[in-house]
Amino acid sequence: MKKHNFSSGPAILPASVMEQAAQAVVDFNGMGLSILEISHRSPEFSAVLDEAELLVRDIAQLSDDYAVLFLQGGASSQFFMTAMNLLGDNDMAAYADTGSWSAKAIKEAKNFGKVEVVSSSKEQNYTFIPKGYEVPANAKYLHLTSNNTIVGTQYHSWPETKAPIVADMSSDIFSRPIDIERFDLIYAGAQKNIGPAGLTLVIVRKEALGKVNRNIPTMLDYRTHISKKSTFNTPPVFPIYVAMLTFRWIKANGGLSAMAPKNAAKAQLIYQEIDANPLFAGTVSDKADRSHMNATFVLAPGKEDLQAPFLEMCKEAGCVGVKGHRSVGGFRASMYNAMDIASVQVLVDVMKALGERYG
Ligand SMILES: *Cc1c(COP(=O)(O)O)cnc(C)c1O
Repeated sequence: MKKHNFSSGPAILPASVMEQAAQAVVDFNGMGLSILEISHRSPEFSAVLDEAELLVRDIAQLSDDYAVLFLQGGASSQFFMTAMNLLGDNDMAAYADTGSWSAKAIKEAKNFGKVEVVSSSKEQNYTFIPKGYEVPANAKYLHLTSNNTIVGTQYHSWPETKAPIVADMSSDIFSRPIDIERFDLIYAGAQKNIGPAGLTLVIVRKEALGKVNRNIPTMLDYRTHISKKSTFNTPPVFPIYVAMLTFRWIKANGGLSAMAPKNAAKAQLIYQEIDANPLFAGTVSDKADRSHMNATFVLAPGKEDLQAPFLEMCKEAGCVGVKGHRSVGGFRASMYNAMDIASVQVLVDVMKALGERYG
């Protein structure tokens, strides 16, 4: 039976990418060798790395002012690496607190400079994205989490500020066009919308670097990886290869301007059902902030005992990964680029069927 993978991460990838990746594990490009056993400095792998970078530049429409880095350590390592490289001891950075990933970034940045939390929806369980706040003029940057994977909120426009933005885009990178000029740095763990876990993509404005005067360990200095083209040490070769295949797929499918309306249509389909079905309620208080990537919803008050039957019906229909994050409860449907709207329709049909059976 076809599975509809609503997992939040590691998550769905295009079927054609999986097939090519599987083939490359057995025999990469007819070399008689696996992609897993060739040197990261071989011409064959260098070509993969070059193509991956070129595709990111093409998809995100990056100028030469920006470097593209393929790192490890996950988005979680970027929580400290961004501040270590961009925030001097006497500098101040503004942080928007819109979820537990933001909170983790704030905690780490405090190790390196002054952090001002300029907006927070923590008191309301992060159910909306605060707007209309001031970012102090002396802020080195404004850090934000573009899509809050756990609670299901997403920025649909960027805050008005002159400060350059540093963004954790782990769960919505390449789901829509990027207004790159607004950003000094973008980072993303690959496992939500790009490829396998183990790769962290960083896009950084080169001019923003080299302005702090602390000693930065070589591996944690972005300039190391820029000068060595992400091969200072052994990079995560297989995740880079699979990400490259995904970038090809994004480009072949019309790029980011084609991803955005497709993702919006999937989101509209499920939110429509969440709002129309009396058995369910959305968890995001401000509908304008609803994520196009991760739709979170719960059972309506008094209907909580339908949790197990609903998940069982999901399973029977092949819908997996629908259980909500432990901190929010209920359900979460993650609908990254690779998910077709037909799969969202299957889940919506299960929600309707629950309504008919128990409504
Ligand atoms: C998943 C996620 C992270 C954590 O990523 P790791 O690669 O596991 O460190 C951070 N931020 C956001 C927004 C995420 O969705």
